[in-house]
Amino acid sequence: MKHVICGKCVVCGKEYAATPNLTNCECGGILDIIYDYAYIKQNFTKEALAARAEHSMWRYRELLPVEESTPNTPLRVGWSPLYEAPALAQKLGIAKLWVKDDGQNPTASLKDRASAMAVAKAQEAGAKVIACSSTGNAASSLAGNAAAAGLKTYIFVPSRAPKGKVAQLMTFGATVVSVQGSYEDTFELSKAAIDRWGWYNRNAAINPYLSEGKKTVGLEIAEQLGWKMPDYIAISVGDGCTIAGLWKGLKDLYAIGFIDRLPRLISAQAAGCCPLNRAIADNAQWYPMEENTIADSIAVGVPRNADKALMAIRESGGVVVNVTDEEIMAAQKLLGSTCGVFGEPAGVTGAAGLKKLCEQGMISADATVVSVVTGNGLKDVANAIKACGDPISIPSDMEALLSAFAENNIIID
Ligand SMILES: *Cc1c(COP(=O)(O)O)cnc(C)c1O
Repeated sequence: MKHVICGKCVVCGKEYAATPNLTNCECGGILDIIYDYAYIKQNFTKEALAARAEHSMWRYRELLPVEESTPNTPLRVGWSPLYEAPALAQKLGIAKLWVKDDGQNPTASLKDRASAMAVAKAQEAGAKVIACSSTGNAASSLAGNAAAAGLKTYIFVPSRAPKGKVAQLMTFGATVVSVQGSYEDTFELSKAAIDRWGWYNRNAAINPYLSEGKKTVGLEIAEQLGWKMPDYIAISVGDGCTIAGLWKGLKDLYAIGFIDRLPRLISAQAAGCCPLNRAIADNAQWYPMEENTIADSIAVGVPRNADKALMAIRESGGVVVNVTDEEIMAAQKLLGSTCGVFGEPAGVTGAAGLKKLCEQGMISADATVVSVVTGNGLKDVANAIKACGDPISIPSDMEALLSAFAENNIIID
């Protein structure tokens, strides 16, 4: 890869040749992929990009760590819509708001961006089998993207994973192990199995290429906004790979001169599981927490990408906000009813955090904000019903309809 210099440990600085099998540093630290921006700048322009027909994450190949000969993965990952949301902006009291609906990816979450990258790198490595542990979305996205590319998958999920995600896994033909324990327990078993059988590793914060896939969400936001950055980008945080990837993408664009300023990140976690936000708020180390929230995708008590995530939040002058399950459910309803966007609990946690910060007067009225919805609500219908309630249920009878409308104070004008 002519445009990639190395993988560099974010803890000790040790550099590694960027082979497809790259994992953690020998010191245990996470690697960051380092690019030759001077080289990239020579061949990559906004004009060239604008003329490109490819509308997936692979339109940014110049900034992605793949060989020229590596094929695009088969599913259409990325280029999710960025909707302007004036009604919601007005409700929140901010100047402009855009909602990036990453639930529209092929397996319905932002994780497809990392899994497509994992599949591309596994193919470069000549691997036939990929494995991961996941709260659910990394698993279903890996299973789907690997199935499309003809690779076999072994997947470890905690037994609490919502049914929609497990249904995806089974449909995509993965070998699924449901671990009776926490995500942390699940991760440890997957690690032992990967070590034992030598499968290609798609675990968050072990394989440094995954963040590079996730960064395409940031590249897209910038391009979709005509390279004019908003003041803030709000996103939910579990392991911390997503927010770190988003930040990496924005910094790449800054480094090659495509954007001239960087937004501040809003890191939203669940109040019942917020080890990274707590570390920022206390300006201290992070410590493990219980995994106590309905937002299963971000119920990560031992975040695997703490170093990169904390660095991203701090470097951006970021804001942290923790939201209760009630606030998450309220945000599900609000996004759905004002924008027509259906997010799973972790998917709307960024929006819930933004709403809370607006209510607390932390975001000025002239602010421009992008809120990323990271996963689709159909993955977890039980919690959506909990958030929004059941419909009116009556026999097929006009009298029953009239009295039901009266009982529910529904006045038709
Ligand atoms: C994985 C996930 C996140 C958080 O990403 P991390 O890299 O774990 O911080 C947020 N929302 C959804 C829907 C996810 O699946």
